[in-house]
Amino acid sequence: MSPLSTTRPASAGGHSLTDQLGRPLRDLRLSVTDRCNLRCTYCMPGEVFGPDFAFLPRAELLSFEELERLSRVFVGLGVNKLRLTGGEPLLRKGLPELIARLTAIDGVQDIAMTTNGLLLPRLAADLKAAGLKRVTVSLDSLDPEVFGRMNGLGVHPDKVLDGIEAALTAGLGVKINTVVQRGVNDATLGVLWDALKDRAVLRFIEFMDVGNHNGWNLDAVVPPREVLAQLGGGFRPIQAHYRGEVAARHVDEQGHEAGLITSVTAPFCGDCTRARLSAVGVLYTCLFAGGGLDLRAPLREGASDAQLSKLLARTWRARRDRYSEERGELTAQQAGPKVEMSHIGG
Ligand code: SAM
Ligand code: SF4
Ligand code: SF4
Repeated sequence: MSPLSTTRPASAGGHSLTDQLGRPLRDLRLSVTDRCNLRCTYCMPGEVFGPDFAFLPRAELLSFEELERLSRVFVGLGVNKLRLTGGEPLLRKGLPELIARLTAIDGVQDIAMTTNGLLLPRLAADLKAAGLKRVTVSLDSLDPEVFGRMNGLGVHPDKVLDGIEAALTAGLGVKINTVVQRGVNDATLGVLWDALKDRAVLRFIEFMDVGNHNGWNLDAVVPPREVLAQLGGGFRPIQAHYRGEVAARHVDEQGHEAGLITSVTAPFCGDCTRARLSAVGVLYTCLFAGGGLDLRAPLREGASDAQLSKLLARTWRARRDRYSEERGELTAQQAGPKVEMSHIGG
């Protein structure tokens, strides 16, 4: 173990597993499918993910049993928060069953999901009954033309609003994720904020250079000061709920909360405790990783929980990722190809 890896105390749960920068393993994001019913230009642009795109065959995906088993192993190493993602997680058949399995794992304190919300009217009640407490719904604009362009398929924002309404009616907590792109949706943020600030916490995410196809450039990134000005100003920062919280929290004069996720302008790698598992069981230790550790092969070849745990621990201990802090120093070529967002789900 590196000398650095002992710089932080063991967690309340008694796990002392830390990576090379002293970061514990706390959060696991499980991608349950690489498919999606939208084609957001910043994530799965239609030109690349078109009708002929070869998505993963069903048999390649981890089964619910496998997802549950791996989650237990992760929890044994310190994970206490799970987030389901995709692609679009609600496209995975029988998802409430997976929620119920994961909720039953001893040591899981929180299960959330990130979704585009389109299937929530059909599924919210079942998800809630299965034990889900909250959802994060992605919605970039209430302007039909802007949103239709950003989601790549001309889908109307009312479809997402219906999903948000269904989640609230079912008793789920709701946060909203908005990716901000200069010259695309930044001028529409004020309307979104005014319409939804009473219903949910809104979080504004800087456009990131994830994947290899979204045409990212720094000029399209809108820094926090400008985002808050678009919302009408008058904000003050408030304390994070916990160390390592991704969103920098702000409230307006009436107490409505906006979170700013400044992955590009103020990276937060130093507190990154997140592991990501792709739908085929590859563990990525960074959103921008070029490769990861295949856990499906040992799992299907009969590895024991102890063996899987050892593999995982070894990988986490070796982790040095801090891509967002290094971004400025890397040329595109040095950075190399990265995993697609649709494989690990943000
Ligand atoms: N399909 C679900 C959804 O859209 O909520 C879950 C998967 S999606 C990849 C997870 C989150 O990543 C979404 O909130 C999405 O807006 C965000 N995201 C995708 N591409 C991004 C990018 N290039 N920059 C910043 N956020 C991005
Ligand atoms: Fe699909 Fe979510 Fe990516 Fe949009 S951000 S294309 S909804 S996976
Ligand atoms: Fe974590 Fe990698 Fe993002 Fe840094 S760049 S916050 S290490 S996922």
